[in-house]
Amino acid sequence: MENRMTIALVAHDAMKHDLAEWVAWNWEKLLSHRLVCTGTTGRIVAETLMARRGKDVANARFDITMLKSGPLGGDQQLGAMIASSEIDMLIFFWDPMSAQPHDVDVKALLRLATLYNVPTAINRSTADFMISSTLMANADYKPVVRDYTTYIERTLK
Ligand code: PGA
Repeated sequence: MENRMTIALVAHDAMKHDLAEWVAWNWEKLLSHRLVCTGTTGRIVAETLMARRGKDVANARFDITMLKSGPLGGDQQLGAMIASSEIDMLIFFWDPMSAQPHDVDVKALLRLATLYNVPTAINRSTADFMISSTLMANADYKPVVRDYTTYIERTLK
């Protein structure tokens, strides 16, 4: 059975070339999933997919949603989607060598991905392992999310 996932793709500027190469390498696998990207990353992902698929945009079947650019709120939009269980996988090539103006948003996105147990690749090798995992085809696999009922219903003095 086909397992269509929603995969979020984000790359900081210094890592966009890496992500474009990774997308070019995995384009056929990515075509069967819904992609959600921060703005500038999304443009590059779409260009890369179109180049690999051919110039016939009308026949391009890829499903890509572009949020705002990361520093303009895109990371937070993605975080909200994770909190609403709308993201199945996060590929986030963040730049370990540069300070980001939206560092708090980056941290928040990674925190929510951890909190909701979203499979997350922060570099190419992990992304390679994830995209080639047999679990990608298993529609029954659902990441376990911890039960926060006790926290939600805690008594406040
Ligand atoms: P961008 O955002 O895709 O719009 O460049 C990436 C990010 O979150 O830093």
